[in-house]
Amino acid sequence: MPAPFIHASTPGRVVFGPGTLATVGDEIARLGCRRALVLSTDFQAPEAERLADMLGDMAAGTFTEAAMHTPVSVTETAMAQFEDTGADCVVAIGGGSTIGLGKAIAWRNDAPQLVVATTYAGSEVTDILGQTENGRKTTVRDPRIRPETVIYDPDLTLGLPVAMSVSSGLNAMAHAVEALYAPDANPVTSLMAVEGLRALKSALPKIVDAPDDPAARGEALYGSWLCGIVLGAVAMSLHHKLCHTLGGGFDMPHAETHAILIPHTAAYNAAAAGDRLAPAAALFGGDLGGGLYDFARSIGGPLSLSDLGLRQGDLTRAADMAVENPYENPREVTRDGILALLSRAHSGQRPATT
Ligand code: NAD
Repeated sequence: MPAPFIHASTPGRVVFGPGTLATVGDEIARLGCRRALVLSTDFQAPEAERLADMLGDMAAGTFTEAAMHTPVSVTETAMAQFEDTGADCVVAIGGGSTIGLGKAIAWRNDAPQLVVATTYAGSEVTDILGQTENGRKTTVRDPRIRPETVIYDPDLTLGLPVAMSVSSGLNAMAHAVEALYAPDANPVTSLMAVEGLRALKSALPKIVDAPDDPAARGEALYGSWLCGIVLGAVAMSLHHKLCHTLGGGFDMPHAETHAILIPHTAAYNAAAAGDRLAPAAALFGGDLGGGLYDFARSIGGPLSLSDLGLRQGDLTRAADMAVENPYENPREVTRDGILALLSRAHSGQRPATT
């Protein structure tokens, strides 16, 4: 019998499959809306314009200035356009940065959100919003933040560059690893976490070999959905806190930082949560930290924080910051332990086993 647990199913509608971009108009109508502001980054502006053209009268316009870490100044400009154009919902087409902008708008005006997810970051199924103002990143959780509808169309990921696919996929896997030992994990979230890891472990090497393999792209998107659900369903610990510290304090890029650290944080916590991590370890040859490192290396993933520009001299400050605010974690989070972990991740070594 499982230990007593509480499980709250994630609300929201998911439309999955090749060609599902064509359903955006129907899905807007299903939300009871008529005019969508289509959001994207500057890089994906052509996709946003194409979608707006496809929507015709159902598009109130495009806003293509979404940026990493959801700057409040960008949100305010987008809010003004939302009101000026008489939009009644947002459609975010892109990864976590664009989805963050849609969430930031919805958190302020409760606009229904439809997301067309094109990376593996998982933000589209969480009620979490991180935003930056005056150089500080803060995080809020609110039911209004979780998008109502998510469309996963693998066709839109065929062109996601391989390096980004690998980092983004490892970023998703990090959600699943931490979900397995979360204090509020339950049998359902653990099933989804292991299935998410399995799907991404299977898909990413195929994507490296053939980036436009539709089946592998679909498998990766399916895995990233499961990993995103568990990110939004249970509490995250050492790994996500450490990535937040490095992202906020040292301006490290999101997906790559997750990708480099996950073998090390998994190894650190395996010493105390080996039983809960066993199903994940089994996928990676029994040693989760080492296995994840070997997997990341085999698919050309980033391995060293120094390659991302973090300086040796930053490590002690990062370790100090990482232990400032205590949180629940399977293994005690000590300054020396974190410094040793960061030192190995900085130089790109295989994780220590204890
Ligand atoms: P991103 O959204 O910043 O995308 C990186 C770049 O890739 C952008 O230029 C984007 O336009 C482009 N891109 C996206 N999909 C593409 C595709 N299919 N083909 C070609 N180019 C594509 O990257 P990300 O890793 O998805 O998101 C990172 C951000 O999301 C961070 O700010 C992070 O904090 C946030 N995030 C939030 C949550 C949450 O639950 N709140 C979860 C995960 C990530």
